[in-house]
Amino acid sequence: MIPKVTIQHVLDRIDPEKVVDLTARLVRCNSVWDPQAGTSEAEAAELAARWARDRGFDVTVETVAPDRPNVIIRWTAGPGPRTLMFEGHTDVVTPGNLSQWRYDPFGAHIEKGRMFGRGTNDTKGNLAAMLVAMAALKTADIPLAGAIVGGVLCDEEGMMTGVQHFIASGHADAVTAAVVCEPQDGLICIAQKGAVRARFAVRGRMSHGAMPLSGLNTAPAVARIIDGLARLEAEAIHTVGKDPLLGWPSFTPTVVQAPSQGPPQLNVVPGEAEILVDVRTTPDQNHDAIRKALSDLVQHTVREVNQCYREADRRMGIRRPWELDVTVRFLSDRPCTHTDREDPLVASAVWASRQISGREPEFAGVPGATDGTFLWALKDIPIVTMGAGDRQVPHQADEWVDLDQLVETARIYALTALHYLYPGDHR
Ligand SMILES: [Zn+2]
Repeated sequence: MIPKVTIQHVLDRIDPEKVVDLTARLVRCNSVWDPQAGTSEAEAAELAARWARDRGFDVTVETVAPDRPNVIIRWTAGPGPRTLMFEGHTDVVTPGNLSQWRYDPFGAHIEKGRMFGRGTNDTKGNLAAMLVAMAALKTADIPLAGAIVGGVLCDEEGMMTGVQHFIASGHADAVTAAVVCEPQDGLICIAQKGAVRARFAVRGRMSHGAMPLSGLNTAPAVARIIDGLARLEAEAIHTVGKDPLLGWPSFTPTVVQAPSQGPPQLNVVPGEAEILVDVRTTPDQNHDAIRKALSDLVQHTVREVNQCYREADRRMGIRRPWELDVTVRFLSDRPCTHTDREDPLVASAVWASRQISGREPEFAGVPGATDGTFLWALKDIPIVTMGAGDRQVPHQADEWVDLDQLVETARIYALTALHYLYPGDHR
């Protein structure tokens, strides 16, 4: 048992105003990765680094790519085998069309208990909460066993090069558990969907729309690929069913383009087409089998379309050169993650949530990949994804976060670390 007075001692060190103020300052740094506009994570990272240095943390700034730093914040509480990582990213997605916003996306406007702005929800509020939580624990001066690492990382919204650099530099080597600070509305997420992304390219022959027989249209192949994806999705739904935490698997064609480059024109048969596919998986699916199924779809499509052209030619008594070419290239492969409910990290997160909310916490899954995916896949680190913010709000116009929930999150983060690093058997 952790004494009540110790718990209160940590919580007393979380000043709600500081959580709100740090969130606002981070939101005011436009950290959209946009080299042409001259914006990057640099300013937000510098702010986080300065904030942590001022509180006596050991802070390292590493350049992942020009203007794209990672900030690594360390504090060793006492000797012990455990190192808890808090991870939060500094980049935000574009605000998009500004006329869709009621408030300045980088103004951190507060109204009726909500802060509005890009990153308030995903995930600068949670980044501020984790920093304040780390500082609360540090100043509480309680004997703890182990260390805390804060990974304030770049490029989560892009290719996740920040976390990969963090791992490649050895910073994750001693980490025994990680809290991924993302907007999950107070839920404790112990699973994340996996992803396989692929690009199908179809090559036919360009021609005049009035003389289609002199060309080779890519459309029949495109139609069969889309149809094939729907079939694969139906099969997956049938065989693996609905995951209790992650829901259904999906095979989604997201970009369908013909011609693949240049302007489309009504009277031109496109010579090339492309389809981008975003497959999202649940733990019972095998990624190698999915890759094979997508490659088989290529063979199947070529065979069927050529067969159709052959039959059409025979009917018309002509002989066209039909050398249809279809290829598939895999763009990324991210595994599902699943942290055991019995893991000490999960026990700590559950205990902390219960202490703060007074309710039994709810388990859930994350539909997308996060930086935690790499910590789990490359370093076998158990992860829990949790934080403040409505789960539907990320990347929307007028993004917002509830400030009471944000302060509650800072308290949950602090108690999670307290429980995880508390010496002796206290469970
Ligand atoms: Zn995020």
